[in-house]
Amino acid sequence: MKALVYHGPGQQSWEEKSKPVIKEPTDVIVKINKTTICGTDLHIMKGDVPTVTDGRTLGHEGVGIVDETGNGVLNFKKGDHVLISCITSCGKCEYCRKGMYSHCVNGGWILGNIIDGTQAEYVRIPHADNSLYHIPAGSDEEALVMLSDILPTGFECGVLNGKVEPGSSVAIIGSGPIGLAALLTAQFYSPAQIIMIDMDENRLHFAQEFGATEIININKDDAVKKVMSLTNNTGVDTAIEAVGVPSSFELCESVVAPGGCIANIGVHGRSVDLHLETLWSRNITITTRLVDTVTTPMLFKTVLSNKLNASKLITHRFKLNDILHAYKTFGNAAKEKALKVILEAE
Ligand code: ZN
Ligand code: ZN
Repeated sequence: MKALVYHGPGQQSWEEKSKPVIKEPTDVIVKINKTTICGTDLHIMKGDVPTVTDGRTLGHEGVGIVDETGNGVLNFKKGDHVLISCITSCGKCEYCRKGMYSHCVNGGWILGNIIDGTQAEYVRIPHADNSLYHIPAGSDEEALVMLSDILPTGFECGVLNGKVEPGSSVAIIGSGPIGLAALLTAQFYSPAQIIMIDMDENRLHFAQEFGATEIININKDDAVKKVMSLTNNTGVDTAIEAVGVPSSFELCESVVAPGGCIANIGVHGRSVDLHLETLWSRNITITTRLVDTVTTPMLFKTVLSNKLNASKLITHRFKLNDILHAYKTFGNAAKEKALKVILEAE
């Protein structure tokens, strides 16, 4: 079969690799139907994720069809259409039983990281009973790819941790796919204001279409001043960091209102200054989280019932064979006006 293989920073190829086989009774082999590229894959390609080693097949999102099951798999059989969660979880360990699948001692974020991932014709999914979801016949499978990672990530790490409430004010720093996923799912709670902040005019335009009440381009405006003027000089109840660089986290520190929450989603590779000299008295909460995907069953229903229009996040489509081209497009997101790219198997 063919797979997108990482060969060290900046080096990748679409190459022949042996088809995965069942290793544990709880494994399933899935034939990939549709997959996508994540911002995290770009971080990996830069060499930011040292757990990913030469020879690894990338990718942690996708939908497909069950090709083979281990003897111990109870919930899935050959031919089932399935959604693959970016988080693999056994459902049995102490963390899983607390609902913290991201820290499963037998799983967590391993796909396309420490085991081969979904940017291939076939993928092995460990602990399949707890890591796959059935797709009902007739579903828009392309839209469901957004449930593998970005929708639960935006919702759990941003909206839930940020305690978005009816009538509250929210600022989301970063209008990429994850920030936009937070924007879409924040609207479940009807906040009064959702201010989107980015430097890419095109992504801010998407944000406006997706329900942002105000947009701020940090290349044109002083973001702190603008947020303060939009919030009667109080700041926002929830500041969501969806970039993963020090300046965007510090912006959250500057715009959070007394009693508010800073919810970090971004993957940070560097340390960030914590301004306790101004924050110590402001009753704020700072949260961090790796997505647990415990809300995936709920989000799945909102997508199937069209309460959440996930397909809006898809801007480009390629054949799986053309994945190197797709990486170029996604890597030049601003120029290409790209959000999520879908890769479809032949
Ligand atoms: Zn991802
Ligand atoms: Zn577990």
